[in-house]
Amino acid sequence: MTSAGRFAPSPSGELHVGNLRTAILAWLFARSTGRRFLMRVEDLDRARAGAEAEQLRGLTAIGVDWDGGVVRQTDRGQLYTAAITQLTAAGLTYECFCTRREIQEAPSAPHAPQGAYPGTCRNLSNAEREAKRAVRPAAIRLRADVAEATVRDVLHGSYTGVVDDFVLRRNDGVTAYNLAVVVDDAAQGIDQVVRGDDLLPSTPRQAYLAALLNMPVPEYAHVPLVLNADGARLAKRDGAVTLTDLALAGVNADAVRDALLASVGLPAGHLEHALAVFDPANLPREPWVWPGMPGVHPGTSARPRTGSRGA
Ligand code: GLU
Repeated sequence: MTSAGRFAPSPSGELHVGNLRTAILAWLFARSTGRRFLMRVEDLDRARAGAEAEQLRGLTAIGVDWDGGVVRQTDRGQLYTAAITQLTAAGLTYECFCTRREIQEAPSAPHAPQGAYPGTCRNLSNAEREAKRAVRPAAIRLRADVAEATVRDVLHGSYTGVVDDFVLRRNDGVTAYNLAVVVDDAAQGIDQVVRGDDLLPSTPRQAYLAALLNMPVPEYAHVPLVLNADGARLAKRDGAVTLTDLALAGVNADAVRDALLASVGLPAGHLEHALAVFDPANLPREPWVWPGMPGVHPGTSARPRTGSRGA
């Protein structure tokens, strides 16, 4: 299988300029290294009707193309089940019956890093498990035997982060993002992962899981996010930040593409021009504050967004 990069949007709504900028960068990283570029729709969760088509239209409008068909995670349940079966056979999973609230209220294990699962269900007896099964369905967690792992990132260098007993399958039966992403990247031959740096903290978990599954760990490049004027991650409420809204305000997709390219120091025009001079070493390492487009009201508001995505 030839090597590949990818873009993997969650179809929860229209892509905004921050997502589009990440897509352009992922495309440039892949194409500049002779890789294929694949499109995977991460629709296990948060899918909104019509959003996938809208997102793909937006990507095409700014010149991001991809090889082969679009892969959807909802079509790949067997692969995820096989991976969980493999881990379970190796004694590397357990059932967890905790509610979110119970996890928050549980005393954390000594020396456990903040945010790590406290291990409540790790060593239940058969009888305890039986009793809990009668009350609510189980989630499946990884039985991790490390507390942290280190990954290499093209932009961040060596990065060490928490690995806990994270969820592989939720108790509503939905495969967790951290499992699906690892299984899909390996199954699709993706050996270069370029995405927003809000996902860097999840990456040690994913790399650790890939190793347990005997899957190769891809090269990672976590690119800076786009922020609003208040320094919070850009969101829809920040005014005209989608291609649709910008078009209504008189800014076409070419102008948006050119603004995004300029923000990473690359020449305007067709993405091929940017490709000819693209060098990851020259990428800005700081987040970019979306300046709005000339003549377009930048939008007010902005409670900083809390909560992590997909983790
Ligand atoms: N689907 C995730 C998102 O849109 C991205 C996951 C990834 O690139 O690994 O936030």
